[in-house]
Amino acid sequence: MRKCSLNSLNAVFEKLANDSALYMPVDGDKGADYKKWEMGDELSSALNTNRSAKDFFFPQTENLMEFKVSGKEIEVIDTRDEKEDFVVFGVRACDAKSFDILDTVFLSEPCDSYYANRREHATIVTLACTRPSETCFCNVFGIDATKPTGDVTCWKTADDMYFEANNEKGKAFIEKIADLTEECDSKAVEEQQAKTKEILKKLPLADLKTEKFGKDKTAEFFDAPEWRELSTSCLGCGTCTYVCPTCQCYDIKDYDTGHGVIRFRCWDSCMYSEFTKMAHGNNRLSQLERFRQRFMHKLVYYPTNNDGVFGCVGCGRCLAKCPISMNIVKVMKALGGNDGE
Ligand code: SF4
Ligand code: SF4
Repeated sequence: MRKCSLNSLNAVFEKLANDSALYMPVDGDKGADYKKWEMGDELSSALNTNRSAKDFFFPQTENLMEFKVSGKEIEVIDTRDEKEDFVVFGVRACDAKSFDILDTVFLSEPCDSYYANRREHATIVTLACTRPSETCFCNVFGIDATKPTGDVTCWKTADDMYFEANNEKGKAFIEKIADLTEECDSKAVEEQQAKTKEILKKLPLADLKTEKFGKDKTAEFFDAPEWRELSTSCLGCGTCTYVCPTCQCYDIKDYDTGHGVIRFRCWDSCMYSEFTKMAHGNNRLSQLERFRQRFMHKLVYYPTNNDGVFGCVGCGRCLAKCPISMNIVKVMKALGGNDGE
């Protein structure tokens, strides 16, 4: 383990930014969001950024390719331009875990080479939480907020920033900042972890139960009467899917530029009435069906297809952002997740 004093953190950032693009959460008027670090920017201490870190690998819109047509000839142009390495600093444990979920989707065969390309070029530096908020429930899904994954894990104490490499990419990162950091023991980190674990135990959502959900529970929940009341006020705005670090649905469209065609993809939402609309119409005609799809996917379908792993990381963004205050916690409780207590 290595550390640097917080007073010299800017020097570390400067060194990293001289080497490759460096992104981190920075406070703005409307909360924290990732931005490319420039001298003077300060690492935010907010828990969640408004937009999750998935944007780095699965951006809201991206061009996939262009077609140039001349006569009967069609030229296919690869428009990918991410060739540079970059560092994402300050990723929290929940967002770091969301990369595992996204990897399962995008890196399974057939591999999404756009996503894979960005993952290869990125070094993920995570930051342990010390003041989890009352909307956090990552622990419910087995995530340790005091030791997030990633290529490098960091812990920020009152005076220092601690760094620990988790793999070869992480070791290369630590090597880059070796002359600005010093070898140290893990005593201060362990003390911080113990304190944070006490806070995590007392969070209002710490006792949320997942046992009732998971693999092969489709028949149990699909026709549950609770879906009607739960979905009745849903506006179908899609906010919950856009802020969610694990939502990964997209649409692919062609745009006629007048000289050719640009094929692009953009995020889609299962909450939208046009989602998966096909020539024969839409297969989910009501908001109840669309609403049910989102939560069944997180709590039942994804675990069914992925060895019981849930499709939610308990980041709490949907708890904070839904305009009608509906969220996955309310759904779990309404479906009897915490019955029998
Ligand atoms: S659950 Fe909330 S955020 Fe999600 S689509 Fe419905 S109203 Fe919008
Ligand atoms: S469903 Fe809500 S709490 Fe779970 S990962 Fe998505 S935004 Fe976060």
